[in-house]
Amino acid sequence: MLELKDLRIEAGDFALEADLDLASGGRIAVIGPSGAGKSTLLDAIAGFRAPSRGQVIWNGRDITDAPPAERPVGVLFQDQNLFPHLDLDRNLALALRPSGGRPTKEERARISDALERVGLAGLGARKPGALSGGQQSRAALARLLLQDRPVWLLDEPFAALGPALKREMLALLDETAKAQGALVLLVTHDPKDARQMTETVLVADGRAEAPVETEALLADP
Ligand code: ADP
Ligand code: ADP
Repeated sequence: MLELKDLRIEAGDFALEADLDLASGGRIAVIGPSGAGKSTLLDAIAGFRAPSRGQVIWNGRDITDAPPAERPVGVLFQDQNLFPHLDLDRNLALALRPSGGRPTKEERARISDALERVGLAGLGARKPGALSGGQQSRAALARLLLQDRPVWLLDEPFAALGPALKREMLALLDETAKAQGALVLLVTHDPKDARQMTETVLVADGRAEAPVETEALLADP
């Protein structure tokens, strides 16, 4: 369980408040108007932005002041951040050992397994520039899998893809998150994306509202 307890996050003269319990394994769409604070909320959970009040608790442990690398969190933001001069195997090896160095045999096996799970089997020697947009998104998802964290934060991750490819990636995200039991928070502007998640958090008017079932919120009139 990820608890945001009486959290207040300030950015300049903007402030967002959140008081939420997010159950492990939930798959949550984070929606709301542009500028409402969706990215700010994810930044605070990831540890990129310190709250001015309140606590972030993961399974009973206070992680409010923990640095990003020590949080149970993996992130996939719109800018996929694959290193262009490294092939996929090396890019993914960095997810396992951020300090670099040659991956062990066991790590190489995990990398090839992750590539297979996202539909990129055999492409480990390609550099990102030799991949399509959809394949680059798959590679970023493979990196998230390898990080093996129980909370996944995604900020408009597939916004650059066409609608069919985006649906496919969201389905793959759903499948892989379910398999790992990950809690997913996905920021999106698109109600169609939100429908692929089970719950929805609405960010508006300076507050993040507790999750409701996506079906209930977005049901067609
Ligand atoms: P969203 O992701 O919902 O579009 P953001 O979280 O990016 O919203 O931004 C929320 C608000 O905070 C916006 O009004 C934005 O301009 C403001 N903001 C974000 N970062 C900063 C910052 N570093 N300094 C001042 N204001 C900021
Ligand atoms: P998004 O596209 O996710 O809504 P924004 O365009 O709001 O993101 O913000 C992009 C980056 O600029 C973020 O790192 C945010 O913190 C920063 N930022 C946004 N608004 C401001 C602002 N008014 N002053 C300073 N930094 C800002």
